[in-house]
Amino acid sequence: MAEVVRRRKEVLPAKVLSNREITPGVFALEVEKKSEFIPGQVVAAAMNPNDDLRLYSIASGRNQSALRILFDVNPEGQLTPPMSKLQAGDTLYVSAPFGRFTKTPEGAWWIATGTGIAPFISMAESGEFENRTLLHGARFLNQFYFSDLFKEKMGPDYLRFCTAESSEEVVSGRLTTFIMESDNILPERKYYLCGNANMVVEVSDLLLSRGVPFEHIIAEIYF
Ligand SMILES: Cc1cc2nc3c(=O)[nH]c(=O)nc-3n(C[C@H](O)[C@H](O)[C@H](O)COP(=O)(O)OP(=O)(O)OC[C@H]3O[C@@H](n4cnc5c(N)ncnc54)[C@H](O)[C@@H]3O)c2cc1C
Repeated sequence: MAEVVRRRKEVLPAKVLSNREITPGVFALEVEKKSEFIPGQVVAAAMNPNDDLRLYSIASGRNQSALRILFDVNPEGQLTPPMSKLQAGDTLYVSAPFGRFTKTPEGAWWIATGTGIAPFISMAESGEFENRTLLHGARFLNQFYFSDLFKEKMGPDYLRFCTAESSEEVVSGRLTTFIMESDNILPERKYYLCGNANMVVEVSDLLLSRGVPFEHIIAEIYF
């Protein structure tokens, strides 16, 4: 269950431009962009101005005219079922962008599971990808969202880890196994983790046990 945003953000109406189901149960929703943002920031969103707010990473480039979010439908949830039904011309209430999961330095590793890839889409589409390495974990091959973007921009520095299916393009197994076995875990590097709490805790523990200092692990947890 997502926690209600405690210090309530102001939300303003934004017109929906498009809403596309990119894989079953996962949507890329585009709304009017009302203000500038730094790649990696989030917005709060709701169907109605007084509803509880939910947070979403911005998943579009800073120079694009639309603001995109990437979300999976939680069938029992409050916001994502109605949000999945939005169509062009409808309204979503959206806050100004905020958050500090931003400005990843060169050399950084980006580590994501599922829709936790969203902030890295924004970074890649904004030109922030040189000398970064992306590790993305998912159960199924169709859950490597925006893989064409990352293949084009990052080439061999884009690594996919798939646990339930295999293909020539992906590594079979968990990204945590890769981190555990890697001889390239450098303590001086910054690691940006985004996704569910289990992944973030597990990867953080692994990195700490490999000598990475706590302040080099920056996490965005989707609770
Ligand atoms: C910083 C941040 C960024 C995020 N970015 C993204 C993103 O880019 N994409 C994305 O998909 N998600 C993201 N999330 C998660 C997102 O904010 C929502 O939590 C998620 O979309 C579910 O929202 P919902 O309203 O549909 O479900 P909720 O209404 O929050 O429900 C979620 C689950 O909790 C259960 N539940 C609800 N109320 C109760 C209750 N009273 N008691 C017990 N169980 C209950 C529901 O049955 C459901 O299974 C982010 C979260 C954070 C904190």
